[in-house]
Amino acid sequence: MVQEIDAALADCAEAKRLGAEIAEYRIDHVFSGETDDAEREIAEIERLVRSSALPCIVTCRPTFEGGFYDGDDAARVSLYERLGAMEHPPRYIDVEHATVSRSANIRQKVLLVVDHPGQMRGLETGLILSMHDFERRPADLTRRVLAMREDRAAAVLKVAYRARSLRDNLELFDLVRQADRPMIALGMGEFGLLSRVLAPKFGAFLTFASLRDTSTTAPGQPTITEMLARYRFRSIGRATRVYGVVGWPVGHSLSPLVHNAGFEKIGHDGVYLPLPIASEEKGGTEGGGYESFKGTMLELVDHEGLDFSGASVTIPHKEHLVRLAIEQGWGVSEDARAIGAANTLVVERDREGGFAGARVENTDAPAIEACVRSEVEEVGGKTVMVLGAGGAARAAAYAMAQAGANVIIAARTREKAEGIARDMQSVGRVSVCAWDERHAHAADVYINATPLGMHDGPGPELSPIEPKQLGRDVSGVVFFDTVYNPVRTPMLMLAEEAGARTIDGASMFVDQAARQFHAWTGVEAPITMFEGLVRARVGSR
Ligand code: NAP
Repeated sequence: MVQEIDAALADCAEAKRLGAEIAEYRIDHVFSGETDDAEREIAEIERLVRSSALPCIVTCRPTFEGGFYDGDDAARVSLYERLGAMEHPPRYIDVEHATVSRSANIRQKVLLVVDHPGQMRGLETGLILSMHDFERRPADLTRRVLAMREDRAAAVLKVAYRARSLRDNLELFDLVRQADRPMIALGMGEFGLLSRVLAPKFGAFLTFASLRDTSTTAPGQPTITEMLARYRFRSIGRATRVYGVVGWPVGHSLSPLVHNAGFEKIGHDGVYLPLPIASEEKGGTEGGGYESFKGTMLELVDHEGLDFSGASVTIPHKEHLVRLAIEQGWGVSEDARAIGAANTLVVERDREGGFAGARVENTDAPAIEACVRSEVEEVGGKTVMVLGAGGAARAAAYAMAQAGANVIIAARTREKAEGIARDMQSVGRVSVCAWDERHAHAADVYINATPLGMHDGPGPELSPIEPKQLGRDVSGVVFFDTVYNPVRTPMLMLAEEAGARTIDGASMFVDQAARQFHAWTGVEAPITMFEGLVRARVGSR
């Protein structure tokens, strides 16, 4: 969004340095279309185009299509005429389909400025014919795209609308694949990132990225650095496999950071993205979002050309993943079946990219076991108290009971704790204690599987257990916090103060992620690199 010409030119030079190949100047803030100011404004915009470090697209988006220009169309056309007559004109001008289709006169004038099959003069500027909906997927999308295709003068077609769910991206990919000429098809908002990052996989003409967060011209647009460094945009091609973290919310997940870096390190042609699936669709759905999870996952798995090859699955869908796998007849690991929750989906693809099978696993449980074994030589016979009765607590209770520990679950909702104890009966010794009595039991290991202590959680300053209240020497006792943001949680700080041993959630995060990485690629994860990336982000101990 251009606010001031010199600043826009400096930003363009910076974007070029970061790796951008073309710049879009949204000039609707600097062009008013007022007669008195027109000459000065046009001269400034000409200077912008002339001095641009990159070939450029000039866009003057009117208010009726989500922009800021509220002058008349005639003034806008005069601007295009002047830009088109420059010695080095913009590479493209972007004009809305709604603008050219409502006035034959305006269309005629725009056509005089751009190169198209009927153009007699040799012109350098192409027309991007665009359509935007900032609210939703237009109900008449197909009709409008067909109408845009009718316009042979457009060099590039652009469709952008607010994606309501991940599924909208798949339709955008199909539009690009079926296009008869270069096309840009983008989902706006949190659900649309897939369409922006995977643009080269489907042969889209370009994708947009902003220089900095505050300069986004459309909601959900990533920065150039995120696009190139995080998602390795330049290495994405038709055969690139797609992975991601499925959950709600997933915007702050560290998984894209480690898995994308890992893929690059081992030379795996894959990209890993946040894949948000809301827990409840508007109006609520039966099963706490199971139906939307199932519908979206099956579309991702079945989509031709997406090469969806795996996912990390997190709150609130870990139990949904096991349910879906059982319903679909996919493989379910023994751990995942016993725990009733899975955090890993592996999708096998045949040579043509078709679905060839899937399996689900739980890598939280072995990660918890490995973390505990790093501090406790012999787990068998030890008493382990698990705090909480959610998904992580289930995985912890299972891993510890299977390793031969006596597991006590302390949870504020007793029925949930009892449910875990019941489900784990055949695995090992698992009992329950009241939340208020948790300090009365002597354990060798305490595992926090609640969000207490987590930044932005229900009690960031709280510890689920107070080592001092245990009334004994805790120097040999291990306190393990699964929370990893921050790494030094209140529980771990209190434990260190009391002279106890500690295990942090970053160790568990890295271990479970490494197991997922191996399940997808067949290659050992670069654990030291994962560890470095995670600790650089959430702090070291
Ligand atoms: P979950 O299924 O939502 O379970 C959360 C549990 O915490 C529930 O038993 C809940 O009790 C309890 N709880 C919530 N607020 C509480 C409070 N104020 N006081 C006492 N208990 C409270 O979540 P989850 O998937 O098990 O995850 C739990 C934690 O594990 C998260 O904080 C996450 O950071 C961590 N985790 C870490 C990793 C890792 O790789 N390091 C992996 C997975 C999870 P109710 O049922 O009564 O609400």
